[in-house]
Amino acid sequence: MGLFSGKKGLIFGVANKNSIAWGIAQALHAEGAELGFSYAGEILKKRVEPLAASIGAPFVEECDVTDDGAIDTLFAKVAAHFGTIDFLVHSIAFAPSEELGGRFVNTSRNGFRIALDVSCYSLIALAKRAHPLMANGGAMVTMTYFGAEKVTPNYNVMGVAKAALEASVRYLAWDLGKDQIRVNAISAGPVKTLAASGVSGFRKSLHYVGQVAPMGNIDQEDVGQAALFLLSNLSTRITGEVLYVDGGYNIMGAPDPALMGADAKEA
Ligand code: NAD
Repeated sequence: MGLFSGKKGLIFGVANKNSIAWGIAQALHAEGAELGFSYAGEILKKRVEPLAASIGAPFVEECDVTDDGAIDTLFAKVAAHFGTIDFLVHSIAFAPSEELGGRFVNTSRNGFRIALDVSCYSLIALAKRAHPLMANGGAMVTMTYFGAEKVTPNYNVMGVAKAALEASVRYLAWDLGKDQIRVNAISAGPVKTLAASGVSGFRKSLHYVGQVAPMGNIDQEDVGQAALFLLSNLSTRITGEVLYVDGGYNIMGAPDPALMGADAKEA
């Protein structure tokens, strides 16, 4: 018997085998969960279908989370296929590439709208449709990043979107708690994925965090294990939280002086 034997849930955000959502899916599958997948567009279908098939998950449906009609259609299929669900994983973010570099003051109105819509509002939109299917209570997890609370150069409008996402987690946790549905976020350290590669200077940031974090860089498996905790009964009554899976990076106030360049003279 696995931790998730007899439990059913949805995974949003697998684009390929490097996706954080795929790390979470593999962890859930290993514990016996029955999974349904939703992907963003036709182009991703040929990547996501074989991954889902590799863990024996036949439910794989397209859904653009900026389209309310598409979300309604998807959840009608979810209701028909699964009846009720126990958990939902939201691992989705997007901002136009020109917004993920350069001066923050140049953030465009349209870039702001898109980033907040795809990366934040989508959690609320999915939670609204998942709520009635979680008749026996449930748990939701979304993915955030440290750039929500401290400035991470080039992350720009995505940091603002993640701040709004973390606030949405708290409001959803308050609202859905009365129906025994928990909502939490995982704040992951940098991981090399499709989305991350869109942020200017990502490779350098990854290297820096790997040097500074007490336990170095993380991977998709680390996030998968934390998601197991937050989606299972092991975290009963933990809700509205942001759990760091970042090798401890967020506790650091300054890097180890040993890492600083030789030109940094002692005072
Ligand atoms: P990824 O590119 O594998 O996943 C992003 C997903 O968002 C993709 O599957 C993409 O199809 C989906 N998406 C984008 N627009 C969509 C839309 N309109 N409708 C439906 N789906 C849409 O990259 P990832 O790094 O695995 O990102 C997953 C989550 O993790 C994101 O929220 C990201 O911000 C977060 N995160 C990533 C890192 C990192 O360093 N990789 C760190 C912290 C948090």
